[in-house]
Amino acid sequence: MASRPPLPNSLRMSPQHEIARIAEMRAVHSAFIYLHNQEMEFRRWQRELTEIPAPPFGEAARSEWLRQRFAALGLENVQVDELGNVVGLLYPDTQQPLIGISAHLDTVFPQGTRLKTREQDTKLYGPGISDNAAGVTALLAIASALKRSQLKPDTNIVFIGNVGEEGEGNLRGMRHLFSSAPWRDSIASLLVVDGAGTDTYVDQALGSRRFEVTFRGPGGHSWSDFGVPNPIILLARALARFSEVHTPESPRTTFNIGVISGGTSVNSIPESGTARVDLRSASMEELQKLEDRLRECVAEAWSEIPIAFRAGEPKVTLAIESIGDRPAAELPPNARILQVVRAVDKHLRVESFPRLASTDANIPLSLGKEATTIGAGGDGGGAHTLREWFDCANRDLGLKRILLVLLALTGVHE
Ligand SMILES: [Zn+2]
Repeated sequence: MASRPPLPNSLRMSPQHEIARIAEMRAVHSAFIYLHNQEMEFRRWQRELTEIPAPPFGEAARSEWLRQRFAALGLENVQVDELGNVVGLLYPDTQQPLIGISAHLDTVFPQGTRLKTREQDTKLYGPGISDNAAGVTALLAIASALKRSQLKPDTNIVFIGNVGEEGEGNLRGMRHLFSSAPWRDSIASLLVVDGAGTDTYVDQALGSRRFEVTFRGPGGHSWSDFGVPNPIILLARALARFSEVHTPESPRTTFNIGVISGGTSVNSIPESGTARVDLRSASMEELQKLEDRLRECVAEAWSEIPIAFRAGEPKVTLAIESIGDRPAAELPPNARILQVVRAVDKHLRVESFPRLASTDANIPLSLGKEATTIGAGGDGGGAHTLREWFDCANRDLGLKRILLVLLALTGVHE
């Protein structure tokens, strides 16, 4: 595969001039008009997609829907990988590098959730209509606009509808794409479209680690077996200790104990006690410190039980299982992708601010690639609830923003 070295930054036009030049191009202008005029079609796509269930680990029906859409729009080499990520190229060229644009397909809603959508004036309602049916719709709108206007960017674009962004999905779709050839090596930068709006861009990837801590013991009768170590008490001691940890304000570092379970009845010594703990930080170092502290506290609680129960039978055991791991990373302040987004926002007179967040961009960022996450335009609210909504008014401003960022990253000429 042919690979062209990117131009050194000093030889490029300033991002602001570059954006102005691109926005003046006739084909870009016609793409803008298309994005404005096709709003009703975009709404149909968005509602249709929202009504297809996509719980974590159950995205197959959406993957198939998107594969068909990609093919119908004329994307090339459209494929679904073994996890359900859907990829398609703008044109049939195997040149490298590529610029990627992605939107996640999965939702937080479990199988069986009622996914009926409705529409009132410019507002659409339905679980997942904004996060991330709006993002997927933007992906389709951009692909369609590029095809219709016959724009041929200097660098090819790979469109990605990925699985496994939300919660337990743990970024598995993006992690998989960037774990091996061809995409790991060929995608130079990634623009992630997630949710609604035009007012933010992600410049720091919030890292998180999640653990399930479990103490197990023989259990027994609350009266006759009194003295047998109680897993819930051990767990409570460990968590009480851990909750006294001091975390820095900057880089902001937080923890949460979100779920606790165990035991069967008030007069039984439980056989197990389990807690789920969420640790977050903008810094990998702080995240590691916090994890170390959690492990210490659990080990300390365990070491306080009588030796007989730690070594002999019946034994008391503990387990700390990782149930989530998202790397922290940040873009250098002068990253090209940030310069481009800021220049586009200035050009479009959009007021935007940088954001620290945990998104699909965490994965390429942790590999030292440039990536950011922006919204799909319009406005949205009630994310992760059944009352979720998306307001389509001015969606095309967000779509123009995405298109300009993308074309500045790829380079484009008449
Ligand atoms: Zn999302």
